[in-house]
Amino acid sequence: MLLSRDSLSFMFRSAALLWQKNAARLGEIDSRFGDGDHGVTVSKMASAIVSRIDGLKDESIKGFLEALSADIMAINGGSAGPLYGTFFEGLAAPLSDETEIDAALLKAMLAGGIGALFDITKARVGDKTMMDALIPAVEAARTADDDVLAVIAAATKASAQGCKDTENMVSKFGRARSYGEQTLGVPDVGAVSAALLFEGFNNLKEGTVQ
Ligand SMILES: [Mg+2]
Repeated sequence: MLLSRDSLSFMFRSAALLWQKNAARLGEIDSRFGDGDHGVTVSKMASAIVSRIDGLKDESIKGFLEALSADIMAINGGSAGPLYGTFFEGLAAPLSDETEIDAALLKAMLAGGIGALFDITKARVGDKTMMDALIPAVEAARTADDDVLAVIAAATKASAQGCKDTENMVSKFGRARSYGEQTLGVPDVGAVSAALLFEGFNNLKEGTVQ
């Protein structure tokens, strides 16, 4: 199976819906140790996806991801906009004018996404940030079978586990850092939204947007 532009539309639309559905919960989590804006930011990012997605019918996947990246970078919302914008820009980096994506290219895209983030943040696994979901996701994708659905499923499972693992971590980045051990027991909000992104992508397997 190859990921067509229709498949990617489905994946991004599903992720946007999940972000919208979980916006209130994300805002609540972020209000514990952050500034509480992550739900609003995620809603804005979801709207940016929905606004861009129809253009994917007529343009390259690279063009779509680059335009989406620029939209998301421009969102005012602390660090989340630039971080997700950078991730999407990195996904586009290995592409040229493809209109379909195979497993090898999907793995390269995910590696491009995390590589772009490595350039702009020092956060790594254990620091209680979105990287705790994204780094394991990309690593699991890299070693998954050469099948696009297997790659997405592996990334989704690893991001969910990585997100859960943040409950047992003390925040080391951002505003949450000042709360120290009080952050134990609560997942990192960026890791939650990152895991939801993959969960949305993985809905492609069921073929239904939930
Ligand atoms: Mg915030």
